[in-house]
Amino acid sequence: MNNDKVFINNNFVDKNAANISVFDRGFLFADGIYEVIPVCGDIPYFINHHLERLQKNLGIIEIDYNVEYDYWANIINNLIKYNGKNRGIYIQITRGADIDNLRTHAPNKDLKPTAIAFSLPEKEFGHSLNNTGISAITHEDIRWQLCHVKSVSLLANALLSKRAYENSAAETILIKNNYITEGTSSNIYIVKNNEIMTPVLNNEILPGITRKILLDIALKENYIVKYSKITIDDLYNADEVWISGQIKELQPVTKIDDKIISDGKPGPLWKKMSALYIETIKSNL
Ligand code: PLP
Repeated sequence: MNNDKVFINNNFVDKNAANISVFDRGFLFADGIYEVIPVCGDIPYFINHHLERLQKNLGIIEIDYNVEYDYWANIINNLIKYNGKNRGIYIQITRGADIDNLRTHAPNKDLKPTAIAFSLPEKEFGHSLNNTGISAITHEDIRWQLCHVKSVSLLANALLSKRAYENSAAETILIKNNYITEGTSSNIYIVKNNEIMTPVLNNEILPGITRKILLDIALKENYIVKYSKITIDDLYNADEVWISGQIKELQPVTKIDDKIISDGKPGPLWKKMSALYIETIKSNL
């Protein structure tokens, strides 16, 4: 990992030499968007979904940058070649460095966006199938009103995630106006009487790629999927609780705060859906 290459503004450089301007608006204002592309062995998957979401989010925050599929697919494949297999690829595009107007809140129109990418730590594809259940805590959702945007402005998520870590939990499940939104870095689902429930997509949650693939599989398998408001009591009394994310895959939550979920073991529907999720990706590589 010490010899990693980092992509930075059209060049691959050594990790130690990967520097950007202190005036970059990503650094000063968290003025940027990111994505994480999952990798199985040396094959990246769902590139198109991620690049589409990246382009859409850049449009929402009005960064003028054209995300070209071939250009980015080539960078992703090169990073896998340089840095090794089973390492997700992190991409970040910020509005760029404004050296003429030092720290002016309103961005100058003519900035050149900064694009970087690097490899995340190794995580074997399909690792979630061996998960024996994670613990989570709950906390008020103290984030802003653009949670559907994959913005690098993640201070609230980082502090909430720190709270989980300090409580020996793997995730913090967020509650806004008495209803569950999502985790600090995951989407959430409960199962009750064999029906899958998850919050509806709106500005309070990130439209996860894993969520989309998973729900498509569930519908194809004729499971009932309900987009519904979930209370903390629904969560505590669920038959199963799951979280999902591209690197996390689909994980069973067996303890929330001081409550054991059901019998405290990963449930049968999680077993089925997580296996189907992994199989679906493998068969499409
Ligand atoms: N919600 C939040 C806040 C996230 O940060 C993430 C992933 O990082 C997700 C949900 C899951 O999204 P995806 O499935 O696209 O990884």
